[in-house]
Amino acid sequence: MEQETHIRTCHLCEAMCGLRVETRDGRVEKIRSNPDDVWSKGYLCPKGTVLGALHHDPDRLRTPLIRRGGEFKEASWEEAFREIERRLGTVIDSHGLDAVSSYIGNPTAHNFSLSRYVGAFIAMSGIPRIYSAGTVDQWPKNVTGALMYGGMWTIPTPDIDRTDFLIIMGANPQASQGSLLATPDFMGKLRAIRKRGGRVVVIDPRRTGTADAADEWLPIQPGTDAAFLLAIVQVLFEEGLVDLGRLGEHVQGLEDVRALCREFTPEAVAATCRVSADKIRGLARDFAEAETGALYGRIGTCNQEFGTLASWLVDVVNILAGKFDRPGGLMFSNPIAPSMTTLRPPEFAEGWSFGRWKSRVRGAPEVLGQVPVSCLAEEIATPGEGQIRALITIAGNPVLSAPDAAKLDAALPGLDCMVAVDNYLNETTRHAHVILPGLSPLEQPHYDELLWSWAVRNAGKYSPPLFEPEPGRPHEWQILLALSALLQGQKADDIDTDLLDDLFFAGLVATLTALPHTSIAGRDPGEVVALAEGKGPERMLDFALRIGPWGEGYGKNPKGMTLEIMKRSPNGVDMGALESRIPEVLDTPDGKIDLAPDYVCGDLDRLRGRLGEEREGAVLVSRRHIRSNNSWMHNVAELMTGKDRCTLLVHPEDAARWGLVAGASAKVRSEVGSLIVPVELSDEMMIGVVSLPHGWGHDKKGTRLGVAARNAGVCSNILAPGTFVDVLSGNAAVNGIPVQIGLASAGGIEG
Ligand code: SF4
Repeated sequence: MEQETHIRTCHLCEAMCGLRVETRDGRVEKIRSNPDDVWSKGYLCPKGTVLGALHHDPDRLRTPLIRRGGEFKEASWEEAFREIERRLGTVIDSHGLDAVSSYIGNPTAHNFSLSRYVGAFIAMSGIPRIYSAGTVDQWPKNVTGALMYGGMWTIPTPDIDRTDFLIIMGANPQASQGSLLATPDFMGKLRAIRKRGGRVVVIDPRRTGTADAADEWLPIQPGTDAAFLLAIVQVLFEEGLVDLGRLGEHVQGLEDVRALCREFTPEAVAATCRVSADKIRGLARDFAEAETGALYGRIGTCNQEFGTLASWLVDVVNILAGKFDRPGGLMFSNPIAPSMTTLRPPEFAEGWSFGRWKSRVRGAPEVLGQVPVSCLAEEIATPGEGQIRALITIAGNPVLSAPDAAKLDAALPGLDCMVAVDNYLNETTRHAHVILPGLSPLEQPHYDELLWSWAVRNAGKYSPPLFEPEPGRPHEWQILLALSALLQGQKADDIDTDLLDDLFFAGLVATLTALPHTSIAGRDPGEVVALAEGKGPERMLDFALRIGPWGEGYGKNPKGMTLEIMKRSPNGVDMGALESRIPEVLDTPDGKIDLAPDYVCGDLDRLRGRLGEEREGAVLVSRRHIRSNNSWMHNVAELMTGKDRCTLLVHPEDAARWGLVAGASAKVRSEVGSLIVPVELSDEMMIGVVSLPHGWGHDKKGTRLGVAARNAGVCSNILAPGTFVDVLSGNAAVNGIPVQIGLASAGGIEG
């Protein structure tokens, strides 16, 4: 057969790079970058070149598996759904739907079907509680977005194409390629800032690859970003550098912030942050005086004990310094296809409230409908009313990615029913009774659903499926709808996913026509449903494009955007640079930015306590590598070459104190676990701070991950205490974990 070249977008991360995929005889031969892609213009990273290896991976599941007598056996789809019906039915008949929960993993956000239908699954299944990777990631950002701007996904992103002063806190885009910041070729853009005479400062406990390429690396003690940022705010007020510009009339709470920050002078926080007062003052002045500037904070500012305070203050600094909602500052994207995930639940029309219920065992308050994912293990393992007895995991591997990982690994076998929607038999899904594999990403269309919400340009791209799925295989959206029907008591043999899809879509249209600010506000929902074409996620995408800012509006704007137009533009569509969106983007009860939400400011007492605390000993932070993507990419041989990446990074002075040498095995112990890991000496680390990558620990029996098992590494989350969380959001604090370290071969530390 002839070689074919397919234009496609890489689904693996927020960079959304354009690819040229060369195939022959149903196999991927080569993947190169696409120079004509309007968004990525020829950029890609090493991961983008291995989508073929992922597709052809012999370990990728193509057939449902049912566990019988301790072993997984291949099954037909009918058998798999009947087995789920039997197991779920038994749990629900005896204990009700309260005994069922679900865990939603991070790959869901990168999957065409799952991203659009996980909401349908939750709503239509009636499951009362879910857990997600969000509480080990960006929950603080969701909290501050909800409280400051009115939408939990109303998250501003740095306009890096036009900024001349970029401050990066707790992020390493050199490895991650950007997070809550969708841009291709971040490092090229960083270099461009410097080339045009701008400045880049990286604030991080580790001199990362991003810091190496910046003008300046400013080390900071993990977990103290909020104190540092409050001192910046204090300087802005004290020195008369606050300048809200045109935002003045759209902001409330300015005087509250002025009063709250007064005591947090640079001198008051310097010792705790391990940053000199002069540095803090200098940075505050330079940032305020810069013509354009953006302060961007990410994972390190979220996954720590003051995550919400830090996330809030990142935005506050930008707003006070006049670097918000204007070119070159922190701005809001305006996606061509708005994400339905961003719709505010109607119950929060008068403002968001948290703590509406508490977890059964620990009493953790819900925040944005979830409690910390570390609660899941105890909710499964602790008997009593409301105990979780059935779990549905969707594209997640919490046995590696959730804090206190060993507890969850021990709890999962106690479930009466566990169903995994997953393409691999991995560390988590090996506990399932039934595994339902989704299609390969190359067998599905692709258009990122949520990620364009924080893109640095208003753009979009659609990719058609590259390979035909094998006959009889359902799409993930159909699997999710079928599971929701089973949870509602339908018989497996009676489920009609097309009918369920129609119901879901009609409900969505009814919701959108009832909202005042959409392009179909007030329209007859039945008329819009009748005009909509297709089914499944393609219909949802077409709907989003049509009601979007450039949309066709179901007849309102005949030349406007539709899926058909997107399909005719394989290299993507670019509607231009970001534009100011305040006040239109705000959805707070008074239509203003709440600069000092009571819920957030109430946590300052805890921060005050931290400033008074003497803490000694080492702390552990996490890290990522460009060839990894959490736990997902470790089964691709092409990405696993080179030296061992799962090492403990230790500063040479610390190593000398602890009796460690390069290559030796260190024993690392926290209050909840210990592990042994090879040492790598590096002056990248601050003294007193060590680093382990996350997503490793592939040494568990019963998985089917041939490559990953040969490069097992250790699971850093064994060391993360489940109760060590950012109090306001419930987000895990996997950065700044107190640890003890010693030489393993010498017995090391006790325990
Ligand atoms: S940066 Fe790499 S992983 Fe991310 S979209 Fe581009 S090619 Fe894919």
